[in-house]
Amino acid sequence: MATIVGGIGSSHTPTIGFALDTLKQKDPVWAPIFEGYRPVQQWLAEKRPDVLFFIFNDHVTSFFFDHYSHFALGVGDRYSVADEGGGPRNLPPVNGHSGLARHVAHGLVADEFDLSYFQAKALDHGCFSPLSLLWPHEPAWPGAIVPLQVGVLEFPIPTAKRCFRLGRSLRRAIESYPEDLQVAIVGTGGLSHQVHGERAGFNNTPWDTEFLDLLEKDPVKLTEITIAEYAARGGFEGAEVIMWLIMRGALTEQVKKVHQSYYMPSMTPIATVIYENIPDGPPRESDMEIRARIGHELAGIEKLPGTYPFTLSRSVKAYRLNDFLHSLIQPEKRKRFLDDPEPMFAEIRLTEEERGMVRRRDWRALIQYGAIFFLLEKLGAVVGTTNLHIYAAMRGESLENFQKTRNAQVLYSVAGQEQGKKEWDKKQPAH
Ligand code: FE
Repeated sequence: MATIVGGIGSSHTPTIGFALDTLKQKDPVWAPIFEGYRPVQQWLAEKRPDVLFFIFNDHVTSFFFDHYSHFALGVGDRYSVADEGGGPRNLPPVNGHSGLARHVAHGLVADEFDLSYFQAKALDHGCFSPLSLLWPHEPAWPGAIVPLQVGVLEFPIPTAKRCFRLGRSLRRAIESYPEDLQVAIVGTGGLSHQVHGERAGFNNTPWDTEFLDLLEKDPVKLTEITIAEYAARGGFEGAEVIMWLIMRGALTEQVKKVHQSYYMPSMTPIATVIYENIPDGPPRESDMEIRARIGHELAGIEKLPGTYPFTLSRSVKAYRLNDFLHSLIQPEKRKRFLDDPEPMFAEIRLTEEERGMVRRRDWRALIQYGAIFFLLEKLGAVVGTTNLHIYAAMRGESLENFQKTRNAQVLYSVAGQEQGKKEWDKKQPAH
C-alpha cells in the first residue's frame, strides 16, 4: 500500500531557481535560501519518497484563460520545464506517476471534487523552482511527481475550506493505492506578497508567522478565512497559501513539525516546513472499502461488449495519436495530411502501429487502441467519408447491412463546406 511519509511546504518564487542557476550559494544575500532548503533535502534523502505529490499553480504559462479550471491533475508520465520568456531552465524533464495520478483522480471524483486532467504540458516555476532545490536532478530526478495545478489566478477561486477538504480526500486516495509507494505531499506558494498594483511589495511577517503556527496546530481555523481576508493580511497574490492547506489536509490531524525556515530577500518570503504524521487511529473506512467506493460508478462497465470507455489510461496511452487527429481541425494541418501524412507522423512521433491504423483507416483498431470516436469522425470528415461508414466499419459490417438497422438510410459527417459536396453527398436527394 502507498504511505504518506510527510508533508513539505515551500514558497515557489522564481528567485529560488534563479539563485540555484546563478550559483549564489556563497553570496551572503542568497545563502539563507539554500540554508532553508538543506534540511528539506536531507529529509527527502532520508525518507526517499518514490513520488512527490506536487501542489502548485501555473503563472499563465501552460494554463491560459481560454480554459481555466480549479483543480487540474497531471496524469501523464513526463513533464518538461516551461519557457517563461527567456527559454526554459536547464533541468531534465521529470517523470510523472500516471498510475497513482489515475487512482487519485478516481478517489477525488468519488468524493465529488470536479477535476480537470492534463498531460504533455510543460510546468513553470511554480513547480520547478522549488523542485530544483528539493531534489538532486543530475543526470535525472530520483523519483516521479504527480502535479496538481490549482487555478488561483482567475476569480472566483476555490475556498480555503475546499482546499483543505481536497487534502483530506487526497489522503484517503493515496493511502488506498495498492502499490507499495512512499509519497510526500508538497504544497507550494506564498507566503505574504503582492506583485501587482499600487500595493505591490506588500508583506506581513507577523501574519506569516501566525499562518505557519495555525497550519501546524489548528489548520481548521485557516479554513474559516475568506480569500479577501487572506489578501488583506498576506497580500493579494499571497492568498495562494490556500494550496498549503491541501498538503496539510492530506496529513494526520496532529503533526510533528521537524523543520521550519523563513527568509525574505525581496518581494516574497521564502519559507519551508516539514511535517511528519502522528498516527491518529484506524481509518473510518478500510482500504478495500475505499477502493470499492472509488470504483462504484464504473463497476461492471468492462462487461459491456464492443465498448471501450475513454479512461485516463487509454488517454495517456493514445495521447500522441489523439493529439495528431485533433490537429486536423486546423486547415493547414489537414492540407499537409492529405498531401503526405508521413512527415506529420514522424513529427508527432507516432508508433508504427499507430501510423498503420491511420493509413489503413482502420476505424475499429483505432477505437480499440485508444483513439476517441469524436476524433475519428474528424478524420472521416478530412478524408471524405461519413459517420455511417465509420459505424459500419467498427461493427465489421457493410454500410448497406448497417443501414438496414436504421429507420432512415441517410449519410452525414461533421465536415463543413470547405471541400464542397462530397462523392457520397452528391448521390443524396436535395434536402
Ligand atoms: Fe504562485
